[in-house]
Amino acid sequence: MTAPRVTPQQAWDAFAAGNERFVSGTSAHPNQDVERRSELVGSQAPDVALFGCSDSRLAAEIIFDCGLGDLFIARNMGHVVAESITASMEYAVTELGAALIVVLAHDSCGAVAAAIDQTGRTPSPVTDSVRNTLAPIQPAVQRLWLRDNRDTPYADASRIDANAVGRIHLTATVSALLRTSRAISDAVDAGTLAIVGCQYRLTEGRAVPYSVVGPVELDLAPLG
Ligand SMILES: [Zn+2]
Repeated sequence: MTAPRVTPQQAWDAFAAGNERFVSGTSAHPNQDVERRSELVGSQAPDVALFGCSDSRLAAEIIFDCGLGDLFIARNMGHVVAESITASMEYAVTELGAALIVVLAHDSCGAVAAAIDQTGRTPSPVTDSVRNTLAPIQPAVQRLWLRDNRDTPYADASRIDANAVGRIHLTATVSALLRTSRAISDAVDAGTLAIVGCQYRLTEGRAVPYSVVGPVELDLAPLG
């Protein structure tokens, strides 16, 4: 066990400040030099763990303006929780002392679009592994679709707000991490860890927080 070095609030404030610099075009590119590289050879002590979509436009150290040793990262298409993801986040919290987990969704997510398609009347052919990976996103599609449509269970991509589906899936991802990890839940319960769910806006470059569990004060955007 490694105790966190900062509070969840301090971790969030530093993380959010990095995104703010990126948004405003004033990135400082910290911790990317030879000295930092040498300093980290023997150990790492990231205060933030990030689990996000694999999308190439979500390059984490760039959009949060940080560098080597700052973020412990796991990503997959559509940020779908799996045992390896839970284990990675647990490791960051219990062994590396991370005080914050950020779950990073984004607008125009291809995985969400594909999950909507798979929930439709005539799904496009996909490989077994892709279909299985997208399956945990489908409850979010259904939840939004069935809230507004009673005529058919098959979602119509032209009549559903994909970014709203993404936000439902984002909060479900945060819940899934808590549900699959006693270690993460215990750390939140002890007040040493927070989980913030953000949806990144591709145009603006801003990671907008939509959900928080744990001791962080921040302004949440309405889920809609
Ligand atoms: Zn995505």
